[in-house]
Amino acid sequence: MTRMDASHTAKRKVLISGASISGPALAYWLHRSGFAVTVVEKAGALRGGGYPIDVRGTAIEVVRRMGILPRLQDAHIDSRRYTFLNADGSIAASVAGAVAGSVEGQDLEVRRGDLAAALYSIVRDDVEFLFNDSIDTLDQSGQGVDVTFRGGRRRTFDLVVGADGMHSSTRESLFGPEERFHRYLGYCFAIFTMPNTFGLSRELMMWNAPGKAAALYAVGDNDELHAFLNFHQPEPPFDALRNPGAQRDLVARVFAGAGWEVPAMLSAMRDADDLFFDTAGQIRMPHWSSGRVALVGDAAYAPSFLTGQGSSLALVGAYMLAGALAANRDHTAAFAAYERDVRGFVGMNQALVDNGAATLFPTTAQALEQRNTMLRSLLTMPSATARPAYSAITLREFAPIS
Ligand SMILES: Cc1cc2nc3c(=O)[nH]c(=O)nc-3n(C[C@H](O)[C@H](O)[C@H](O)COP(=O)(O)OP(=O)(O)OC[C@H]3O[C@@H](n4cnc5c(N)ncnc54)[C@H](O)[C@@H]3O)c2cc1C
Repeated sequence: MTRMDASHTAKRKVLISGASISGPALAYWLHRSGFAVTVVEKAGALRGGGYPIDVRGTAIEVVRRMGILPRLQDAHIDSRRYTFLNADGSIAASVAGAVAGSVEGQDLEVRRGDLAAALYSIVRDDVEFLFNDSIDTLDQSGQGVDVTFRGGRRRTFDLVVGADGMHSSTRESLFGPEERFHRYLGYCFAIFTMPNTFGLSRELMMWNAPGKAAALYAVGDNDELHAFLNFHQPEPPFDALRNPGAQRDLVARVFAGAGWEVPAMLSAMRDADDLFFDTAGQIRMPHWSSGRVALVGDAAYAPSFLTGQGSSLALVGAYMLAGALAANRDHTAAFAAYERDVRGFVGMNQALVDNGAATLFPTTAQALEQRNTMLRSLLTMPSATARPAYSAITLREFAPIS
C-alpha cells in the first residue's frame, strides 16, 4: 500500500490546543466522526472557576445533541434578586429575578467550570489529553503538521486547531500579534471568588460609579461569592495582561477610595488564587485558518463578555467546524465551509455591542442615572430576551465519511 493509500484509510489525526469550552466540544464531535483526537492544555488539569456564563439559542441545541443538556439544566443558576447600588452604597434599584427555573429549550446560565467539566466528562475516555504542555512550534512544510511540544515531544498531525482562547498563541504563531485582530471595547475586568461573609443567597448586588462597577454574585446558597470589578479604561493596558501583579495594582488604583464593600473586595482580590483579569475586547480576523491549522472559539472570534455570547459561539463554532471536517476530506474545503457557514452568526453576535456597550456599565453620571431610572421601572428582570443573533445559524447534520 502506498503512503497515500494508507492516509486514505487511516484515522485522521487532529491536535487541539486548549481544553476549556471550544476545545473539548470540538474533540467530542471530531471523535464521533472518526478522528483520532489529542488535546493539549497548558494548565496542569482542567481549569475550574470563572464567572457564570450563558448558553443560549442555537448553543442549547448543540449541548442537547451532546447529551449534556439535563446536566446543565441541573447546574442552571436561578437568581432571586438583583440589587443595584449608588456610589454611597444606597439602593438605586432592586429587581426580582426570574421565578421559573429553566426548561428544555430555554437559555441557561451556569458556572463556567460546570460547563467545562460537563464537556470534559463526555470526552475524557475517548480522547488523549496532554495537560501541563503546549505547542512550541508548528511546521506545515511536510505532508501534515509537525509539532514540537514545550515538554519535548515531537509528533505529526493531519490537522491542528487552536482553541486556546482570546490570547491564542496558535493564532499568534500563524497570523501574527494579537494587536492586529484585537478590537478593544474600553473596559477591563477582574473576576475572582471570595468568602460569602455577607449572607447573600442566589442574588447579585452591583455597586456603580461612573465608569466603575463592583458586583458580588451569590450563585447558590454556599459560602462562596463571585466578585467582579469592571472599569472603563480608554487604552488597553497591554503591559498588565500577562502580569497578575500589575493587574492587581491597576485594579486597586482604579477603585481606591470607592465605597460599599469595595475595600473588602480589593483585599480579597490580593489573596485570591483564581483571579481572572482581561480586557473587554473582540477578536476579528479576515480568515480563521491557514493551511492545515484552524482556529475556533475565542481564539478566532471572541465576542467579549459584554455580549454574553462567548461560550455559545465557542460551542456552535466547534460543532460546525467538526461537521465541515466530517463532510469534507479536503481540509481546505472544510475550513472554507466552516467560515462560510459561521461568519454571519459571529458577525451578528459581535455587533451586539457595536452600539450601547455601556448600557450596563455607564461611564457618565447622566448615563448612570438613566440606567437606574430604567431599572426602577422594572418589576422583574427580563429573562434574557431572545435576540435574533442567538439563533442566526442553521446547524448542519453530521455526515461522517471516515
Ligand atoms: C479559567 C477561565 C476563566 C474564565 N472566566 C471567564 C469569565 O469569568 N467570564 C467570561 O466572560 N469569560 C471567561 N472565560 C472565557 C470563556 O471561557 C470564553 O469566552 C468562552 O467560553 C470561549 O471558550 P474557549 O474555549 O474558546 O476559550 P477559553 O475559555 O479562553 O479557553 C482557552 C483554553 O486554552 C488554554 N490555553 C491557552 N493558551 C494555551 C497554550 N498556549 N497551549 C495550550 N493551552 C492553552 C487555556 O488554559 C484555556 O483552558 C474564562 C476562561 C478561563 C480559561
